[in-house]
Amino acid sequence: MTLFSGPVFEMARQQFHIIADHLDIPLDERDRLLLPKRAIAVSCPIHMDDGRTAVFQGFRVQHHLTLGPAKGGTRFAANVDLGEIAALAVWMSWKCALAELPYGGAKGGVAVDPASLSKRELEALSRRYMQEMIPFVGPRVDIMAPDMGTNEQTMAWFMDTYSMYQGVTVPEIVTGKPVGTGGTLGRREATGHGVAFLAFRALERLQRDPTTATAIIQGFGNVGAHAALGLAARGVRIIGISDHTVALHDNAGFDVQQAVDHVARHGVLKGFADQAEVSAREALTLPCDVLAPCAVERVIDAEIAQALQCRIVAEGANGPTTPEADEVLAERGDVFVVPDILCNAGGVIVSYFEWVQDLQQYFWSRDEVMDRLERALERSWIKVVERAEKDEVATRTAAMAIGVERVRAAKMARGLFP
Ligand code: NAD
Repeated sequence: MTLFSGPVFEMARQQFHIIADHLDIPLDERDRLLLPKRAIAVSCPIHMDDGRTAVFQGFRVQHHLTLGPAKGGTRFAANVDLGEIAALAVWMSWKCALAELPYGGAKGGVAVDPASLSKRELEALSRRYMQEMIPFVGPRVDIMAPDMGTNEQTMAWFMDTYSMYQGVTVPEIVTGKPVGTGGTLGRREATGHGVAFLAFRALERLQRDPTTATAIIQGFGNVGAHAALGLAARGVRIIGISDHTVALHDNAGFDVQQAVDHVARHGVLKGFADQAEVSAREALTLPCDVLAPCAVERVIDAEIAQALQCRIVAEGANGPTTPEADEVLAERGDVFVVPDILCNAGGVIVSYFEWVQDLQQYFWSRDEVMDRLERALERSWIKVVERAEKDEVATRTAAMAIGVERVRAAKMARGLFP
């Protein structure tokens, strides 16, 4: 019996047991590695603009604290629940460990559609959520960051609220802040930049010329838009883009900057190129070199995996591919997967750089940040590709095995208190 349930946590559990079997981890050690250390659920009441009081459910899960503070984003989405947040915290742990960051994984969320709130309501909810979290987080305990539905502004409100309670400015309590409040240059584009960088590595590995290659991107928020910009900058033609309002496809390719400008003006992709509209399924399964799911979990199931016509899946989102789909892809053998904990690690790597800069109060140039980011991603890429070859396993198994091994080794070395 565990607190954590639902399809997303079940997926994280299933993936973990595949890795634990691969690593021969004894059964009695597995719960200690998989089950989150701490979880908190809070109710956040706020005044709405129409005079009503509304209450929103919030969560935060810290998976482990073995290697340092927990680290992870905060998601504002209508369907957020404790199981999903716990799964995302578990994945953050393997991701941080693979990148050799001194963090455990965490994640938080509020069950709310942020588009349904006014800016004042969103600020009130963000501040109340952070206020409820104060006993639970801290720059040496748990450091928040943005995720779906939150952004630099949300982080500025979180940081301000925490700082007001401490009586001093504490920029290192969150990452992904505006640069003017202690954020780092390069954080906004870090995750998408990393997705493009690693998709490019995968194209090279398949000896595919990027200047004649095509890509389809699902999700056009922070990660998807910057992945599309990064791939386009490397000469890749972006023939598909989508968000929760519309999926667009055009073999001639889209002007990504124009699409970004449209979303900045209208909030959504709908209306950008209505003549190019296709179904959400087609947006995943039409032919292309790189398919980059950059939206939500579990969009590539076994059936979609069978129908994919891409050579590379570059996972910008967390958990976009189900274990059943992984089995199909392993059988097919013709799709190279850059797994989420490697592919989207650019965000947490630059978040780590931001935390380090905040702690030292010494700030780096953008070139320095991007150079260190690319070197960190390159190291992880080589480790994963070499391990996959050595163990003759899928890239996801290799990446997760490296992450799980690092957490396990630290737990073994530290021993069990008391
Ligand atoms: P965001 O809120 O900025 O954008 C999300 C995008 O996905 C929006 O365009 C939205 O319309 C779209 N979307 C939502 N549901 C969709 C659906 N069913 N089909 C198609 N599009 C859909 O969020 P983000 O920060 O870009 O995060 C996207 C994913 O990347 C999430 O899985 C998140 O956990 C992961 N991620 C984000 C970061 C980061 O730094 N922001 C880092 C690592 C991983």
